[in-house]
Amino acid sequence: MKRTASLILLLAMLMLTGCAAQEMPETTAAPTAAQAVKRSQVGFYFDTVVTVTLYDGEEGLMDEIMAACDRYEKLLSKTVEGSDVDRINKAGGESVTVDAETWEILRRAKEINQMTDGAFAVTIAPLSAMWDFTGGTQRMPTEEQRLSALPLVDDSAIILGEGNTVTLPKGAQIDLGGIAKGYIADKVAELVQGRASGAVLSLGGNVYVLGHKPDGTVFNVGIQDPHGPSPIASVSVTDISVVTSGIYERQFEKDGVTYHHILDPKTGLPSQSDLASATIVAKSSMDADALATALIVLGRENALQLMQEQGIEGVLITRDRQVFMHQTNETFQLNMLVDIPVQ
Ligand code: ADP
Ligand code: MG
Repeated sequence: MKRTASLILLLAMLMLTGCAAQEMPETTAAPTAAQAVKRSQVGFYFDTVVTVTLYDGEEGLMDEIMAACDRYEKLLSKTVEGSDVDRINKAGGESVTVDAETWEILRRAKEINQMTDGAFAVTIAPLSAMWDFTGGTQRMPTEEQRLSALPLVDDSAIILGEGNTVTLPKGAQIDLGGIAKGYIADKVAELVQGRASGAVLSLGGNVYVLGHKPDGTVFNVGIQDPHGPSPIASVSVTDISVVTSGIYERQFEKDGVTYHHILDPKTGLPSQSDLASATIVAKSSMDADALATALIVLGRENALQLMQEQGIEGVLITRDRQVFMHQTNETFQLNMLVDIPVQ
């Protein structure tokens, strides 16, 4: 009996130390209750930090999740040679047969492009490629380069054919940076469903929360203060995705002007709207991802109108730090951490 117990303990410790990032197991308060084992692992995919925390996760689940991230990176990253996106971008006007999942993401991307009056556009690629918001080179297009690339930004020109074919006009390219992480979060959440008592999946600004904490309470997801490093608010949620896009995420300063990574497809320049961040709470992290990006481009007034029309739930923060909330189904509770009224 004693030997079995110490064997289990040893196994648990091995499991913990086998991870890239470990934390001590958290146990439930009542000593008689089953002990909840918390495991976290950090990975780097899609140019972003991926953190997965599982409570009572099934054996092997963490490895399955990381393997899924790896597979999706090879499918959807524009910088991985031979990925679906890479092949589409190099097709030069020819049709390309892609994975059914890539096709499905593009189908939904086109719908969201229409829904947002073009504010979300995966064909932003020729323009986003002219900017470097992360590499430190401060590359940006000249006005001539920018204006000559603008006609290529048109998601309605993406032809999705039978048998998972994709055809773009010659010169056009796609960038799934504003939607792929959401799709992957959805797929990872599907993997975890029913195989852990609680889970927090975080892929950059995309968070998916499942189940509950060991003490039975729901998880809180922070919303960053656009003006500072700490959270301005948090949302309490379960079994849902919380996605934040912010103009403070990836940016550089040149000659006193700050340039950030959310581009207005109509101009090819960083969005000039009054919004600094948009947080969407939704079952579909893919939709939330694309919509959060789009709402920033649309600006407060149009964003709130679209949220009302489409039943999109979330929180908008303006550049001057006003907070607006739209909620229809009470899927989240907003907890303000600073003294700002919610409008
Ligand atoms: P993050 O990647 O920081 O989570 P977003 O989800 O807001 O941020 O996506 C921004 C990324 O999407 C950019 O890095 C770029 O690759 C792409 N992108 C930028 N502007 C747009 C846009 N208007 N529509 C679609 N994708 C965009
Ligand atoms: Mg997005």
